[in-house]
Amino acid sequence: MDADHPDAAVPEPSRLTVLSGPSGVGKGSVVAEIRRSHPEVWLSVSATTRTPRPGEVDGVQYHFVDRAGFERMVAAGEMLEWAEYAGNLYGTPRGPVEERLAAGTYALLEIELQGARQVRRAMPEARLVFLAPPSREELARRLVGRGTEDEAAIAERLGVAEVELAAAREFDVVLVNDTVTHAAEELVQLLG
Ligand code: 5GP
Repeated sequence: MDADHPDAAVPEPSRLTVLSGPSGVGKGSVVAEIRRSHPEVWLSVSATTRTPRPGEVDGVQYHFVDRAGFERMVAAGEMLEWAEYAGNLYGTPRGPVEERLAAGTYALLEIELQGARQVRRAMPEARLVFLAPPSREELARRLVGRGTEDEAAIAERLGVAEVELAAAREFDVVLVNDTVTHAAEELVQLLG
């Protein structure tokens, strides 16, 4: 045994990285880019009660479950964190994340802000990364989208976005989503 490193055979538990940020900032696009360009990066697969979108595959983007199944997982303590977002439940199954970390490999979560705060409490050593828009104007442009919402709905979304932007100060790292490929590369560099 190496006297300086008595535990050399036991891998150091690795750090969890959490990507979060305001609605509409493009977290999903950054993660999709990492899936494409860095298939070696392990991404947690969340459970959700929302219905799959075209092209989404059960077990790949999400585990699609019904509300009763989701609530059973919560009651059994199987969720590291969970939140309700736009009428659906989303949560991170705890087991696969803990296995990864115990094996000394990195793990990446992409979750909304309430979930990121729960991870902060449950795993204070996790690295929390806030994905920020290049500017408030750009975020507003993305939220307004194709102009299908009425003015009240747009005002409400912008109000929510302002509150969400203020959460940046709770995070360890702020990453600006200037381009999806650049943000994805920077995030991969932060892992480990
Ligand atoms: P979408 O329905 O567009 O895939 O995701 C909606 C929101 O849910 C996104 O902000 C996404 O980051 C968040 N989300 C996805 N999985 C989880 C999860 O496991 N926990 C939490 N708290 N949020 C999640």
